[in-house]
Amino acid sequence: MRIQASWERQTVLGTTGRRLVGGHVSAAGGLGKAIARGDDIGAEIVQIFSNSPRGWKAQRISLAGFEGVADAISAVATRVERVVSHASYLINLATPEADLYEKSSTLLAETMYFAGSIGISSVVLHVGSHRGAGFMAQLPQVRGAIQAALDVSEGVDLLIENSAGAGDSVGSSLEEIAAVLGGVDSGGRLGMCLDTQHLFAAGFDYLSADGVKAFADEIYSVLPAGALRCIHLNDSKVRLGAHVDRHENLGEGEIGIDALAGLVNHPLLVSTDVVLETPGDGDGPRRIDVELARSFVI
Ligand SMILES: [Zn+2]
Repeated sequence: MRIQASWERQTVLGTTGRRLVGGHVSAAGGLGKAIARGDDIGAEIVQIFSNSPRGWKAQRISLAGFEGVADAISAVATRVERVVSHASYLINLATPEADLYEKSSTLLAETMYFAGSIGISSVVLHVGSHRGAGFMAQLPQVRGAIQAALDVSEGVDLLIENSAGAGDSVGSSLEEIAAVLGGVDSGGRLGMCLDTQHLFAAGFDYLSADGVKAFADEIYSVLPAGALRCIHLNDSKVRLGAHVDRHENLGEGEIGIDALAGLVNHPLLVSTDVVLETPGDGDGPRRIDVELARSFVI
């Protein structure tokens, strides 16, 4: 069974490599500890906060003696193959407040520079909220900060995450994500991270096969080819179109396993790595959650 499953996966993926499944883990204690936590939950990919997620002071994760990700993986990991990071939630590139924009741009540039310097593959970013100023009015400054962050960094992708659409947050539609991606000279380092809970809360009904097909058609027609590079696989505590960001354990929420599987296994999404950000028992994804995901993600 195992041999056949991996053969089928290779057939689907061609030469793009094996799709990794994992989860967000705490970075407490430094990079090596975070990777060890990933191993403990059976993750092949881990997501961390490489800079403290709550403060403006750009506090970097401790490398604790390692030079970077490759070094730490070869010393510590039994299963983890890749490390991605999530940018601070404080960052708001769309804000009409000059001071907040300045601090946000600076922290994003620092996060990207540091991530690239230690071998993190990609940084996931919530663009933020325009707070009534209007998406189109704020779009040039959003692109400006993204361009600056790409210009100061090397070897790391920046992935824009779709939002649940709460309070003027940017990125609840693929058109907005495409608009952000389109105006930046990225050298191929700018893409999208699709969060399955935010998508559902934003009002995309993918509970049926027709719904999945409609969404996949929209990806195909709106996003640049190759833009989708990461999936945050989460069930939802809230109903379709509720416009709030509330993750639930897989199979325990309003979306359910069948719909999540139908979406992530669609041919357009099938070469994209999968990261769980589910609550578990309160400390994030557990081994049973990652194993459950691995059982249905082809
Ligand atoms: Zn997410």
